[in-house]
Amino acid sequence: MTAEILSGKTVAQVVRQQVAADVAGLATDGIPVGLATVLVGDDPASHVYVSYKHKDAQSVGIESIDIQLPAHASQAEVYGAIDELNARSDVSGMIVQLPLPEGLDGEAAVERVHPDKDADGLHPFNLGRMLLGRPGPLPATPSGIMRILGHYDIETAGKTAVVVGRSFLVGKPMALLLGAKGVDATVVQAHSRTPDLAEVCRTADILITAVGRPRMFTAEYVKPGAVVIDVGTNRTDEGLVGDVAFDDVVEVASAITPVPGGVGPMTRASLLTNTVMLARAAQASTTDS
Ligand code: NDP
Repeated sequence: MTAEILSGKTVAQVVRQQVAADVAGLATDGIPVGLATVLVGDDPASHVYVSYKHKDAQSVGIESIDIQLPAHASQAEVYGAIDELNARSDVSGMIVQLPLPEGLDGEAAVERVHPDKDADGLHPFNLGRMLLGRPGPLPATPSGIMRILGHYDIETAGKTAVVVGRSFLVGKPMALLLGAKGVDATVVQAHSRTPDLAEVCRTADILITAVGRPRMFTAEYVKPGAVVIDVGTNRTDEGLVGDVAFDDVVEVASAITPVPGGVGPMTRASLLTNTVMLARAAQASTTDS
């Protein structure tokens, strides 16, 4: 068996087209859509990620606002920049690029973003809404993965999903979304303390790896015919590789996301959909009040 390749690049293109149409529609109604980024310090990877976000936003007609602070900025200065963006009517959504330089509290900075401007869907208020199954911006990576599963008609109801990783960024929200009503997978959340991990992973109809260890998941971890979603993004001497040993697993799985070109583009696309959703919600609340 050679697995079907689940191309996040392809799905992201579909999402971007939809977002561009939505942004144009909102512009016709006089509703601006803007995405702001707050970048602190000189981390080269963070600069690259932020530049992608601006490029993506501009490509769909979203205005992008780039706020950069020096590495020696204080927590109060970071809060000041966030507060200013919270107050701007042309900013529909914002992200604080993590990690922040040493000595600064990234989670506190994320919490400073107003929940109504939380393009990453990572504010505790929005994570709480997700827990309750209420509408709101969803964490970008897990919601992008849900979109990939939907695009390729991958059945989740009644399936066993194993999510390896339990970060608040990926693993935990992923498990919640897969187990939500209407999605209806039976979810196992695995982590570094899970005994017999390969055996647990082999129970998965849908295996999601969000660990950060290059090519850790060999065919031994995969049930024949499983769908494998590789979130891992590991920089190695051979370039970017996932958590999954792709060449090995592609022969066992029924479908698999590549790295690069799988989950990454969908994470970026989800930021855009969240930003449009926030712009709409802001407009609706202005109309209501
Ligand atoms: P974290 O480091 O926050 O979490 C890693 C998780 O993996 C932890 O829950 C940890 O368990 C678990 N883990 C570590 N080692 C093992 C092991 N040997 N066996 C089983 N579980 C293990 O990382 P993130 O969740 O932020 O990211 C995970 C990966 O996904 C990274 O490679 C990151 O770069 C990538 N990523 C990719 C994105 C994309 O868009 N493609 C977006 C976000 C992240 P424990 O909790 O017990 O420590």
